[in-house]
Amino acid sequence: MPHDAKDSQLQVTAGEVGDWYDKFGEIYRLTLGESVHCGLWFPPDAPVPQSMDVAAMSSEAQDRYTDYLIRTLDPEPGQRVLDIGCGTGRTALRLVQQRDVEVTGVSVSKEQIAVARRLADEHGPAGRLTFEVADAMRLPYEDESFDCAWFVESLCHMDRAKALAEAWRVLKPGAGLMVLESVVTDRLTPSERVVFETVFAANVPPTLPDFFDLVARTGFHTLELKDLSANLAMTMNVLALGCYDRRAEFAERFGSDFVEGMIAGLPRIREVLVRKTRFFMAMLRKPTR
Ligand code: SAH
Repeated sequence: MPHDAKDSQLQVTAGEVGDWYDKFGEIYRLTLGESVHCGLWFPPDAPVPQSMDVAAMSSEAQDRYTDYLIRTLDPEPGQRVLDIGCGTGRTALRLVQQRDVEVTGVSVSKEQIAVARRLADEHGPAGRLTFEVADAMRLPYEDESFDCAWFVESLCHMDRAKALAEAWRVLKPGAGLMVLESVVTDRLTPSERVVFETVFAANVPPTLPDFFDLVARTGFHTLELKDLSANLAMTMNVLALGCYDRRAEFAERFGSDFVEGMIAGLPRIREVLVRKTRFFMAMLRKPTR
């Protein structure tokens, strides 16, 4: 593009650039890392993200995560899958779109189930995707009525022993159970424990040995364990960024007490998550008799 005289007057000089980096360059290292360039968050051969909005980019990352979970659960055609703590249904919808299975999603939130049912009506294959308000600790299903199930970041809200026992009850022998869960690697202070309850409505995570004791006592075998901690940490950073950026709008919508409590708690919880917890995917199996 041709430069006119006016444009060239706007150009920074080499000396100014050098001075700028001398003074401020360290900020990049402190915030982004050892290079002064961007990170490859999105593979260059994947479709270009629909939007550069942070929440939209996070939503695409969530879909990639869901697709990994689907590949790992790997249900067979015709199987019945239970999505325990199903949120607003997108995870279950992707599952029925990718695999010829029947999925039932349960959540204790009536609002979420209403949203999930609308999603199923609009996009779901007829008859293969249903959502119900139900408590994972008292599931309204027969013994051995599902071929596989998952708790995608939902077991943290439940009495883990009761919910795992219920999953065991409704699963057929040989069924797979996937769990996305956090564990603590260090003792939490009383105030750190409170943050889990107030910011996330979650119970404090167990230690890794306690979690797998519980899994074994319930009767499940562990087939696979993958550490996904960095993904949760990045997602928490995105959550914090979204809350700071949209603070005023959120205060109006959810009440300033809740939003300010969240904003005050988030730096703390991000630090606790990174320093004292790990987050993982565990693939379990109910053994055959
Ligand atoms: N798995 C979903 C949602 C995760 S958020 C997703 O990946 O998008 C946690 C979910 O667990 C919420 O839907 C919440 O309502 C649900 N949940 C928490 N306690 C529950 C319980 N006792 N029984 C059923 N669902 C529960």
